[in-house]
Amino acid sequence: MSVLLYSQECEACVDSIGLFDCKGCMNCIGCVGLINKSYCIFNEQKNREDYNKFLQDNPINKKENLEKILTARESLRRKVPQRSFFGFRNNNVSGNHIYNAHNVHYSFDIKSGEDSKYCFTVRKAMDSYDISFTGDLSECYECLTMVNCNRVIGSHNIWESNDVYYSDNCYNCNDIFGCCGLRKKSYCIFNKQYTREEYGKILVRLTELMKKGNEWGYFFPKELSSFGYNESIANEYMPLEKIAALAQGFKWQNNIPSTSGQETINFSNLPQNPKDYSDDLIKEILACQKCGKNYKLIQREIAFYKRIGLKIPERCFNCRHEDRMKKRNPRVLWDTTCFKCDSHIKTSYKPADQKIYKLYCEKCYQQEVY
Ligand SMILES: [Zn+2]
Ligand SMILES: [Zn+2]
Repeated sequence: MSVLLYSQECEACVDSIGLFDCKGCMNCIGCVGLINKSYCIFNEQKNREDYNKFLQDNPINKKENLEKILTARESLRRKVPQRSFFGFRNNNVSGNHIYNAHNVHYSFDIKSGEDSKYCFTVRKAMDSYDISFTGDLSECYECLTMVNCNRVIGSHNIWESNDVYYSDNCYNCNDIFGCCGLRKKSYCIFNKQYTREEYGKILVRLTELMKKGNEWGYFFPKELSSFGYNESIANEYMPLEKIAALAQGFKWQNNIPSTSGQETINFSNLPQNPKDYSDDLIKEILACQKCGKNYKLIQREIAFYKRIGLKIPERCFNCRHEDRMKKRNPRVLWDTTCFKCDSHIKTSYKPADQKIYKLYCEKCYQQEVY
């Protein structure tokens, strides 16, 4: 089937279901921490016949079978050593999901970086601090959504630019301050063109003014955001209730647009066997079993469910996304100790989860599992 289903923290695994922290596995079900294995079920080696029989006896188009696999995997996770951190080829790092990094701390989902801190969803960062959703940055600070930039402070959506301050949506610019929507410009302040000398003088005055007002070095104030906290993906990574969000000065959107009550078919009226799904299903409107909102299917999605033999999901894509996000560890670090050697570790496992799982330091994990 060439897919990996209901799995987490895996690398190069195919044709498997419900794996956690596995690498290079094929035809495995409900396994945890395995490397280069085939035909394993709940970490036990089986032969091909036993494996196929298990799949035949427990088809995953039945919800209860899938739940059975995931529940068994969860109890297995609680028994075997668990990494306290995910990542590889690092030196002196803290956070989670860090790869090819040196001296990177409190960072999450970063592929390649050096001497940086507080990097969230980042590809290649050098000497940068407080950056999110960026690629190839150096000496940047308080930056959001930017690619290929050097020395940018407090800005959003800047591409291929250098020495940019408090600007938004500018491409191929150098030496600009407080600009918006510029392309291929230099020495501009509030979108107005200056000479190099004028720019230098005004920049000094502006930074001094901002320092006095305690604004220098901070990102744009939240009052400027056009969105409610609950509409933004900040709420996915750092969820807040309405009261807490408002108390922190964020906006809140009470009426997020959606459709409900327009459904054209009930789940009980869908074909029982996924092989019988027809392309006509794209015309149908479904109602999410969790939030009640309507959603539709796309043709490729139907073809996928049909090919893999999966039931059409009873939750809308937003609820499914939320379910998956909840499986991730938060972007927070806690101090704890290695289950095996008692050495101090930092982990993104919540304190409650630290009691459930046997969290190992990287060294002990490598010794035990590899
Ligand atoms: Zn929903
Ligand atoms: Zn240890």
